[in-house]
Amino acid sequence: MAGEIDVVQKCGVCNEQVGSFSVKQENMMLSSRARVWCPSCQDNTPELRELAGRVESIQREVDSLPPAGSS
Ligand SMILES: [Zn+2]
Repeated sequence: MAGEIDVVQKCGVCNEQVGSFSVKQENMMLSSRARVWCPSCQDNTPELRELAGRVESIQREVDSLPPAGSS
């Protein structure tokens, strides 16, 4: 699996993970204007993409911060 990376798809509204996929590094696009179905929001929401390997450290930072812009 050399050159392949895992990308996590998240809901742009509630930040819930809604899916993931592997992609060749040269084909990676982290900026997406796609919309994904979020079961939590019950809506099609703007897709966020993150590198899977980074998610844990980001999650830890997020957990230690109060929620922002959750209105
Ligand atoms: Zn959502």
